[in-house]
Amino acid sequence: MNYISTRNKNILKSPSQAIIQGISEDGGLFVPEEMPILKESIDQLMGKGYKDLAFTIMKYFFTDFKEEELRNCIDLAYNNKFDSEEIVPIVQRDGAFFLELFHGPTLAFKDMALSILPHLINTALKKLSIDKKILILTATSGDTGKAALEGFSDVDNIKIMVFYPQDGVSQIQKLQMLTHQGDNTSVVGINGNFDDAQNGVKNLFNDNNLKKELSDNNILLSSANSINIGRLVPQIVYYFYGYLNLLENKEIKSGEKINVVVPTGNFGNILAAYYAKSMGLPINKLICASNENNVLTDFFNTGTYDIQRDFKMTSSPSMDILISSNLERLIFEISDREDGLTKELVNDLQVRKKYKISPEMGEKLRDFYGDFAHENQVEKSIAQLFKTSAYLIDTHTSVAYSVYKDYKESTGDKSKTLIASTASPFKFGASVGKALGIKDIKDDFEMLEVLARMSNSDIPENIKDLKGKRIIHKNICQKHEMKSMVEKFIGSGV
Ligand SMILES: *Cc1c(COP(=O)(O)O)cnc(C)c1O
Repeated sequence: MNYISTRNKNILKSPSQAIIQGISEDGGLFVPEEMPILKESIDQLMGKGYKDLAFTIMKYFFTDFKEEELRNCIDLAYNNKFDSEEIVPIVQRDGAFFLELFHGPTLAFKDMALSILPHLINTALKKLSIDKKILILTATSGDTGKAALEGFSDVDNIKIMVFYPQDGVSQIQKLQMLTHQGDNTSVVGINGNFDDAQNGVKNLFNDNNLKKELSDNNILLSSANSINIGRLVPQIVYYFYGYLNLLENKEIKSGEKINVVVPTGNFGNILAAYYAKSMGLPINKLICASNENNVLTDFFNTGTYDIQRDFKMTSSPSMDILISSNLERLIFEISDREDGLTKELVNDLQVRKKYKISPEMGEKLRDFYGDFAHENQVEKSIAQLFKTSAYLIDTHTSVAYSVYKDYKESTGDKSKTLIASTASPFKFGASVGKALGIKDIKDDFEMLEVLARMSNSDIPENIKDLKGKRIIHKNICQKHEMKSMVEKFIGSGV
């Protein structure tokens, strides 16, 4: 199976090529030439462990990988780096099922894909006999950065550079990145928000001069953002895993449809759920939960995607995004895979800061439901769930949980529901503690200790360790200086 660009179906790449390249040369995103349909019945998948299931799903997408190559990537990714043997535990509270995707090394769901992406890229390089070095350029709203650094650190022949919004991430997120060791890494704060960082990185990908400079140095560019299909596909797996878990525990009957709620930013995670549904997973509604940056809510309710609004800094910083890159892949699907139209709409967004889809395209969005949570709701839900169920959730998960409660109340839909739980509450301890009314705290680390005592759990080691670690990455730049930062990093001969 090959991959095509959402903006030009004539651009055709093998899975390995698509993974290495990250983004198409015309700026479009790679999508499977044809969406694969699961040949196995869902019931046949019952009883598989996470890794075996991952193989079953991913083999549909990475068709040029040999079985042992793909299994090897999976083994290297989902091992004791995760603090839970089942990789993705599922916790039932308040009538919903929380799919805990945050048990990897950096405590956010980004680890689910970024712990395997480096191995996919490395395998792809070998398969294509490319002996160039790779430079991974990444924009982060806080969680991708550290997960990518963790995944790519000290991988031979790969350098990684991360751009984050200087004032747009939590203290813990920042410390995680700035204290990261690894000779092949660079972390740079930009004076701007996530959209600026992501636009900047996309521009670098389209900068032919830079590409030439890099290629003179025997370097290829690639991406660790969810625009890379190698990041999206591993995320499909856990929706199957969650469904199968409900089936095995007799919470649902064979074939019964469930709802999925996803706290959404760049639209990668929920798109993976949509792909799972396209493959045959019985999903009823895909509930897209936003924070006060509610562009997507408006899009699902009106068919207009309009970014002319204030960018808000919220307590769920990893969702503080106005331009959700992966929506382009959904637009491509609901336009019946019209590359020309997709290109036109994306162009409208660049030029006019908005686009409108046709009523026919809107019809195809019936599987989606969009809503958002206000900041005070996010806080209230954290406190309420802790009080009623002794379960601590982070701010992003609380956005999803808040939207879920409203949805259930307003529609009366009783479908069993999986809520994507995207970060450990300890990763956003300051906001979680504030929601619980904890006051007079010296710093974030003391807050974590209080939270641990209250919830009768341990602070995850990877966060505890941060205290007192040396800051290694001190670079800050303006938006227009990103290119020269890349040149400097390359020139440093690392
Ligand atoms: C990245 C992130 C999100 C948003 O996921 P997208 O795939 O960008 O929509 C939600 N929650 C957390 C904790 C994240 O790190």
